[in-house]
Amino acid sequence: MMSMKNRIIPIPRSYEPLSGMPVLLGTPGKAGFHIVNETDAAPGTVLASADALLKETLRRLLNVRPEEASGSVCVTLRMGTAPVGLPNAEQGYSLEIGSGSVTVTGFGECGLYYGVVTLTQCMEVENGRLGLEPCRIVDAPDLRTRGHFMESRFGSNLMTLDDWKAVVDNMASMKQNQLAVSVYGCWCVQYDGRVSEYLYLPIQRYPQLRVPVVKRYWSPARGGWVDEEADVPMVKDDFFGDLIAYGRTKGVEVFPLFNSYGHNTLIPRTFPEVAAKYEDGEPTLTGFCTRNPKTYEILFDIYDEIIDRYLKPNGIESFHIGCDEVGAGIEKNAGDIYRRRNSFCKCPLCAGTDKSDLYVEHVIRLMKHLKDRGMKNVYMYHDMLLGRGTNADSTEKMQRALEENGLKDTAVIDWWTYSDYQEKLMFQTTHPEQGLRRTVKPWNGYYHWNIISYPLKNVYLLAKMAHEEGAEGMQSYSAWDESYDRIHAAQADYAWCFENCGKPEDVTDSYARARFATQYEKALAALRLQDRMLSTLPPGTDNAGAPSNYQLLMNTLCYYFYSYVSTGKPYPRSFPGEAMERILSSREAYESAILALNAMAVRCEALWREIAQDCRTNIRLARRYAWDAAHVKVLTADYLALLRIYDIFRSGVTADTAAAMAEAAGERRLARLALMEEFERVKEPFLAPSHLRNHSIYMQFFADLEAYLRNTPPETVKLDFSDFSPIAGEAFMKLR
Ligand SMILES: [Zn+2]
Repeated sequence: MMSMKNRIIPIPRSYEPLSGMPVLLGTPGKAGFHIVNETDAAPGTVLASADALLKETLRRLLNVRPEEASGSVCVTLRMGTAPVGLPNAEQGYSLEIGSGSVTVTGFGECGLYYGVVTLTQCMEVENGRLGLEPCRIVDAPDLRTRGHFMESRFGSNLMTLDDWKAVVDNMASMKQNQLAVSVYGCWCVQYDGRVSEYLYLPIQRYPQLRVPVVKRYWSPARGGWVDEEADVPMVKDDFFGDLIAYGRTKGVEVFPLFNSYGHNTLIPRTFPEVAAKYEDGEPTLTGFCTRNPKTYEILFDIYDEIIDRYLKPNGIESFHIGCDEVGAGIEKNAGDIYRRRNSFCKCPLCAGTDKSDLYVEHVIRLMKHLKDRGMKNVYMYHDMLLGRGTNADSTEKMQRALEENGLKDTAVIDWWTYSDYQEKLMFQTTHPEQGLRRTVKPWNGYYHWNIISYPLKNVYLLAKMAHEEGAEGMQSYSAWDESYDRIHAAQADYAWCFENCGKPEDVTDSYARARFATQYEKALAALRLQDRMLSTLPPGTDNAGAPSNYQLLMNTLCYYFYSYVSTGKPYPRSFPGEAMERILSSREAYESAILALNAMAVRCEALWREIAQDCRTNIRLARRYAWDAAHVKVLTADYLALLRIYDIFRSGVTADTAAAMAEAAGERRLARLALMEEFERVKEPFLAPSHLRNHSIYMQFFADLEAYLRNTPPETVKLDFSDFSPIAGEAFMKLR
């Protein structure tokens, strides 16, 4: 029997194998068990979810009716007292398997649920029977709160209630208990000449605050262009309250992040009166004037509506106020993308005050209001306290202000940083000596619409800091794509019992065993290739002069980062001209790196396609990972083809060479279309518009290039590899 322990995510605190025969729960079609549930599993509770999960799993695996089963093995669910010294015991449980019985004892309601999650993870039909190894598990988490913050960006803006419920279920299956949802956040001008703004809740008091989602891409499934605006489903169907209520049934606390100050253009543009001001009084249309009472009138109207409509009725007492990255920058307004606009106000009331004082004053004001409204956990980002946009480390200033205002027990500082390297983290300590509540924030890779990456080292470093400095939680900075499953499992592992997990490579090994046991060796090889393809290590001597593979893929080869405005460059930016310029500036290094990536991607894809043939493994994930590898393969092949076209072009354009170049471009268009077609089969519809828009850009680029080469007399063909705009068609420009 495959060791049962390997299937449990997160890795349990203690697992003691016991001697004796396996406990047989049945064979397909025949139940060998009966269930005794001693808990009060009232409908809609976590206890009811535990009962349902147990029965649903047994029904699924054995095709029996667990409610009526009367086999000899007694499966008991009960509540009990935790052993002394177990951390966060109310989330703990014990599981005893042996001597013809199975007993799950919860030390709290969530504990019982987690015990059943573990028990069901142990269940698998092997050799025609469902048997469990005798063992004793005593388990509970290191960190009280564990989960994700889900950013309001590409993908979550199209998630339906069912999509969100699937996220909750996925998190609960890893014993994660906290889902913060960004309901308001703004970035800069990207795509469609618009500022990227997101508002996920209908605000009844201010109905003018509303942002549609633009869908613009080629859909192979439809065989045509999609070009439309849609409402955010969470706004249209107003389901945030339903999502919170659903989360409660799975032990997942769902609560909002509503950003203010930075990442804030929609409100100050709609109400210029409350925007930060230039010295001459002109509104910057970003940030806030934090000394104008009207700012707080509007903000607190919105806060109150969120609290009264969604949080209070569902017993939620947590709220994230964001407040990260407040400062000055360009591209904050569609009308003048190169103009610098500051989120800090320069009006006569604000001008004389240090930015850090304005900042602390604002945060305290928000927190006091939220505390008055019954919020017991008010989260805020840490970065502005470390001098970002301010003059000095103001963590002590914040600490004093929190103490003076009676907020020390309410405020939770959210420490985020996303490097893979200790020395490159934004901070080396979360300042436990200041006695404030703290949670750490690694990320899950986030930029899924650009490319999937695997920041396990970052997760490890932040979890280690949380472990050593006694933080209360870990809540990752995330955007949802199940291709991050390994990162999510690593986060769950490290937050649950850090000492049991080992280094990132050990967690990868555990993951391969848990998800792909029967194809373990191939899966491990494929996962290691994922890590190498997205490695943040500096390049070797062969390709010195090129960036790390991660940077090469994320920042040079993939499209997304060219959607940002850059000072001194035209907008839309030259693409793929800018990428080709970079590659040609150090061709040998870049070409070696791209060739190596292409070879790894081909191998990685082949491994996942082989694994996906084995139904005993998680074939859904294997197919998904095969697509992610195919993405790297197609992307690198595109640039290798462009280098070939460049060489042909330099040798002189004749009818023959023009045809060869057109042929190469046409092949790339078809390869991209095939990749896009598979995307629509393996990834969820809510991801399609943001992902496929970027893919459509390559598809249309090669279509335009092929058309140009086929329709232009060879002697007049002109190509500038740093600027293809002369050959770009209208569809291409519309996508940019
Ligand atoms: Zn002001």
